[in-house]
Amino acid sequence: MSGQPLIVHNGERVPYGQATAHVMSPAMRYGLNVFEGLRAYWNAGENELYVFRLQEHLDRLAQSMKLLRFAPDFDAAALGPQLLDLLRANEVKEACHIRMSAYLDGDGEHHVTGPVSYFIASKVRPRSEKTATGIRCAVSSWVRLSDTAMPPRIKCGANYVNARLARFQALHDGYDDALLLNEHGKVGEGPGACVFLMRHGQLITPDITSGILESITRDTMIALARGAGIDVVERKVDRTELYAADEMFVAGSAAEVLPVVSVDGVDVGAGDVGSVTKSLQDAYFSAVTGDSHRGKGWLTPVYGGT
Ligand code: PMP
Repeated sequence: MSGQPLIVHNGERVPYGQATAHVMSPAMRYGLNVFEGLRAYWNAGENELYVFRLQEHLDRLAQSMKLLRFAPDFDAAALGPQLLDLLRANEVKEACHIRMSAYLDGDGEHHVTGPVSYFIASKVRPRSEKTATGIRCAVSSWVRLSDTAMPPRIKCGANYVNARLARFQALHDGYDDALLLNEHGKVGEGPGACVFLMRHGQLITPDITSGILESITRDTMIALARGAGIDVVERKVDRTELYAADEMFVAGSAAEVLPVVSVDGVDVGAGDVGSVTKSLQDAYFSAVTGDSHRGKGWLTPVYGGT
């Protein structure tokens, strides 16, 4: 493909520069959009691009639209085939990050339900260079947004004001990223990833009433860990368990699986990448490219059969 990559905007494939929204839209004025970030992975041996857990991302997009009372102007499920067409039209043959957003268009106030517009875009997004060595985190003084004020379990753009504040603070203070506690002082998650820790041979992650996004990678990691015979527990997690943990990692579609080697300057375990973390990271990377865990229905081929 030559020239500008294409973007799907309201069902049409248009050149990147033409996919624009109006400044008066509620999306622009109030941050009224919902979105998904997912990845597709290139399997060179099979000459195939696989979108990872597409159905689950479409389902969560529909859920986000429902919770924010977006009019069902389109069926989120229709975006799946449009995404696959887009990746083919752009001749994507390498790992990429995909963004699907639905947003309130028009010029209404923040209580309107439509019109709803959407776009789908993909771009190359390399793996974090900290994947091998791990990140140093700080517990943020910003509190993870509460379900009594905003819906943490879905992905709406405005939620990311909270993420931005926490990440900015952490970066400014010289850390790689933040971990947020929730309104009850329990561990929530990172600004863009869920958190897992190993203690006493158990893999522990905050439960879904801890003010966290209902993360798809979280679900993947739980399945991979259980499949490997690891005892996984979803429960409330105390702040001090972060310092007492033997191993830790954060996980998300964009972040993938990033080891956490220290929290607030306190080493996690020996201060390097833990062995369980490394094996789960390897399991994740082979699952996303289709080198393992084929039977789970997690992969959607882009070129297969075309
Ligand atoms: N928590 C937050 C706040 C996120 O933004 C993300 C990234 N979407 C995650 C967790 C991980 O979610 P997922 O695995 O569904 O990408």
